[in-house]
Amino acid sequence: MNPSDWIDVNTEKNHYSLDHFVIPDHYEEDVSSILIPHGVIMDRIKKLARMIVDDSPGPLVVCCVLKGGHQYFADLVDEIKKLRRINGTSVQLSLEFIRVKSYMNDTSSGGVKISLTDAELQEFKGKNLLIVEDIIDTGATMVKLLDRLALVEPKSVRVTSLLIKKTPRSNGYIPDYVGFAIPDAFVVGYALDYNEYFRDLDHICVISVSCI
Ligand code: 5GP
Repeated sequence: MNPSDWIDVNTEKNHYSLDHFVIPDHYEEDVSSILIPHGVIMDRIKKLARMIVDDSPGPLVVCCVLKGGHQYFADLVDEIKKLRRINGTSVQLSLEFIRVKSYMNDTSSGGVKISLTDAELQEFKGKNLLIVEDIIDTGATMVKLLDRLALVEPKSVRVTSLLIKKTPRSNGYIPDYVGFAIPDAFVVGYALDYNEYFRDLDHICVISVSCI
């Protein structure tokens, strides 16, 4: 997938007013605009699933990066299950969960904690891995996770991230499958949180300045 295939929501005109969609009352004051409505996310995931299935080398171990990646993971797995490869065969999936912590409030803490024991890591040896992440910001988390996974020599590793942030802080890491390129702002919703809030908001929204 080339960066030209990403959906670029980098311009102001892509932002939707809060009045255009339904927002839970408890978040109305806390978000400034809707960046990506839920329906658009779901439609984009169908396309990403199609690309992943077309490229899939065999049975896949789909690894959810928790917590933020769980909604994308769930919806992506649902879509992959509906699809068949070009040769008519289905893709066998097994599901794994990796807990990663890297953020304090709205800032990358620099320190990345990956909760994977050596025994759990060994499960990935010789397998085709698909890592499912919510967002790539600096890229530090993903580079660290991939370094750790490489130690057990998986057969292949592909990464999909629903979002990639256009930021000067990027270390240059680019995932194999990206849904949307977004501006350098702090976003919430669709399982992305701010101090554990907003995971229950369906749309991806820009957080209000007053909320941070
Ligand atoms: P990175 O290591 O690429 O800087 O950050 C990756 C992690 O930081 C993501 O998995 C996500 O948990 C968190 N993150 C980065 N940017 C945002 C953002 O705009 N909103 C939220 N909610 N989390 C973010």
